[in-house]
Amino acid sequence: MADLTRLTAAETAERIASGDVTAVEVAEAHLARIDAVDEKVHAFLYVDREGALAKAREVDEKRARGERLGPLAGVPVAVKDLFTTEGVPTTVGSKILEGWIPPYDATVVRRLKEADVVILGKTNMDEFAMGSSTENSAYGPTGNPWDLTRIPGGSGGGSSAAVTAYEAPLAIGTDTGGSIRQPAAVTGTVGVKPTYGGVSRYGMVAFSSSLDQAGPCARTVLDAALLHSVIGGHDELDSTSIEQPVPDVVTAARNGDVAGLRVGVVKEFRGEGYQAGVLQRVDETVELLRELGAEVVEVSCPSFTKALAAYYLIAPSECSSNLARFDAMRYGLRVGDDGTHSAEEVTALTREAGFGDEVKRRVMLGTYALSSGYYDAYYGSAQKVRTLITRDFERAFGEVDVLVSPTTPTTAFPIGERADDPMAMYLADLCTIPSNLAGNAAMSVPCGLAPEDGLPVGLQIVAPAMADDRLYRVGAALEAAHQARWGHPLLEEAPSL
Ligand code: GLN
Repeated sequence: MADLTRLTAAETAERIASGDVTAVEVAEAHLARIDAVDEKVHAFLYVDREGALAKAREVDEKRARGERLGPLAGVPVAVKDLFTTEGVPTTVGSKILEGWIPPYDATVVRRLKEADVVILGKTNMDEFAMGSSTENSAYGPTGNPWDLTRIPGGSGGGSSAAVTAYEAPLAIGTDTGGSIRQPAAVTGTVGVKPTYGGVSRYGMVAFSSSLDQAGPCARTVLDAALLHSVIGGHDELDSTSIEQPVPDVVTAARNGDVAGLRVGVVKEFRGEGYQAGVLQRVDETVELLRELGAEVVEVSCPSFTKALAAYYLIAPSECSSNLARFDAMRYGLRVGDDGTHSAEEVTALTREAGFGDEVKRRVMLGTYALSSGYYDAYYGSAQKVRTLITRDFERAFGEVDVLVSPTTPTTAFPIGERADDPMAMYLADLCTIPSNLAGNAAMSVPCGLAPEDGLPVGLQIVAPAMADDRLYRVGAALEAAHQARWGHPLLEEAPSL
């Protein structure tokens, strides 16, 4: 039998539904692949072998009884370790939650289970999703399957690496400033940040609540759409969840087409700091869009140059409030509880031992930015910039249907290169952050390998809020045109796979 781990999610679902393979065979093939490669890749923090096989058996029994199966029934998925999973450890990449077993499922997880998707386990991430390389995980870094000495992106590097290394056809990520799209770009996969409020945040460990958004990671645009439609939609447990149906992303992904589409190339996202090979592949892809019938114009969004600064005040401010709940009294780690310390001391000792450097840096920064006397100068100003960014998008979407840019300024950098330089690390999200601040929808699709290092480059596509389907229509058209040009999916060029 052909290697089941090489199939797309759509193909896998079809083969299970037709009885060609069983869900148990599919789950076993992926668990074997994890056994074979994850010691090197380190995409997973926890593999739920028994849970996965039990769910797979359930799917096979359902099919045997003649019950109708959903569009992803029996397909394996890896879930970022930021979602609560009932009975399965959830660490959010931090020592402070080591050993915590949540008593409930996040809405995204519940929806996966209801759709009979097979959850393989939990993936590695930067602690509390703060980072762009997965090096901030308290459990060690993840390698980029294209070159294990390089970063797989972050904060969701475990999810992108699992998909890239064929350990899972699908994964769930979260994107607060780029943590789905940036990992997708540097691993040559597809990653989508849905419209803010399009996917429930219930049961996601909160980092920056006004920015956090769950979304799909996959190897194809259609697979991402199938997953998006399973996890998306209104949830009354999340007060910011949008009360509208999920845009029809699956139909859009099946009908890739850009004829007559107006595409705006963001003028501000090039120049100093951008790798030449990244810009070259992006420019070629823009040219391809033109050849496919799109109308391409340059668009200026001047406030985008201030997005990074605004983000690094807003996100730390919100995190300083959200992380106050890790006080050693409720969940996870507790240090110094030996009768000799006061409750305050236990909290302080636990936080000292349980939080890593980047988390501490952000809590301090955020607490400072929110303190009275500084609030207007920092947080207040950042909120004003946020409004300006939203207006830039509104103006741009008055002229064009989608915006495009590089997803990241560079390809995957070596592990360790930026570890001691937070500013260099933050720059990896230069192009992705505006969409989080404005709350609109964005995707990264592969657009080739940079000539200087042979590593993947991503094109970012941005659409207005609740026009997520546009991303898929454009993404699918590009995917088909690129693959016709390359003769195969980009991942087939990865040397270590
Ligand atoms: N890299 C950004 C940060 O460190 C974004 C993280 C994310 O999207 N979760 O905050």
